[in-house]
Amino acid sequence: MKALFKNILLKEFEGKFSSDELCLAYLSEQKWKDGFVCKKCGHTNGCAGSKPYTRRCTKCKYQESATANTIFHRCKIPLQEAFKLTFMVCQNPNVSSYEISRVIDIRQMTCWRFKKKITECIDERGDIDMLQKIELKHKLK
Ligand SMILES: [Zn+2]
Repeated sequence: MKALFKNILLKEFEGKFSSDELCLAYLSEQKWKDGFVCKKCGHTNGCAGSKPYTRRCTKCKYQESATANTIFHRCKIPLQEAFKLTFMVCQNPNVSSYEISRVIDIRQMTCWRFKKKITECIDERGDIDMLQKIELKHKLK
């Protein structure tokens, strides 16, 4: 995933992910590029769900959103901003949450929390995989 953000300029990035919908489309495309596998029952046949960019298992009817089981799961930041935050951290892991807050116009503490999630992932794996859900080691208040 880091590769996506490597050697890409902020301007290009912003063009590519200029709306929440484009980010969702990208996530869903990446997530199911090798086909759908149901998280509940393992069935490999899915159809379009009730909302855009969701998939529904044709066997057990389990519906999965594009953000489920990714680092953007239950993310409080709008997807477009969350993508940009991730991009900024990948470009410069030392970027401050104040700087991020200024750029994406989201509260500094919120930026700090999401940044921590990403940097913990980079620390652990040496890379960031947006499609991998990250459990925080320490619960943040
Ligand atoms: Zn299923």
